[in-house]
Amino acid sequence: MYIILLGAPGAGKGTQAVMMAEKLKLVQVASGDLFRQALAQQTGLGKKAKGYMEKGQLVPDEITIQMVLERLARPDVKNGAILDGFPRNIQQAKALDKALAAQGKKIDKAVYIKVSEGELLKRLGGRWICRNCQAPYHEVDSPPRAKGKCDRCGGELYQRADDNVTTVKKRLEVYFAETSPLIDSYKRAGKLLEIQGEGSAADVNGRIVAALR
Ligand code: AMP
Repeated sequence: MYIILLGAPGAGKGTQAVMMAEKLKLVQVASGDLFRQALAQQTGLGKKAKGYMEKGQLVPDEITIQMVLERLARPDVKNGAILDGFPRNIQQAKALDKALAAQGKKIDKAVYIKVSEGELLKRLGGRWICRNCQAPYHEVDSPPRAKGKCDRCGGELYQRADDNVTTVKKRLEVYFAETSPLIDSYKRAGKLLEIQGEGSAADVNGRIVAALR
């Protein structure tokens, strides 16, 4: 089973991807996490992606598509994946369909997590993420039990460099211009599940699981 998570930055894709991957026993493949790992390890890929990420722009398709398709070709993904942050435009969606079709596979569902713009800005403003397991927290809405420490794995929490006001604005602009057209495209393909993304992570997850059934 291959499920795509669609939604603006801050919609809760990362949180839901982790929860769904656990429940459905699928691997979570998050393009942003792959880029951040490459950046932290200062690989060639990380160096190429850095400038785009800092500006809140999309990393060029040829770099992104190759990175994600390589990840999807690894043996742990053979039963499917929860895709978080990819595809982010029509070209990426086409490349993904083509690569899956070559293996007799397809995207089963696209889950669109819908959140108002005001809520997105609020969430991204107070977001902290575990350096180790990527679990997200919010300093007001869902703080960790111990300050600066992940509840799940004890890892150190950090704030993403691109969660500052200017870059968030750009990321939202890019989302509305390039990524949101995918919503219609998956709707036309009969694959879209639209989920109300406000409320607790557990509530949103309950809605997603019910819709997938
Ligand atoms: P995310 O963690 O999904 O918010 O991604 C963080 C940043 O990584 C984005 O702002 C982009 O610069 C880059 N990125 C992640 N996924 C993609 C993608 N599918 N296409 C292009 N750039 C991406």
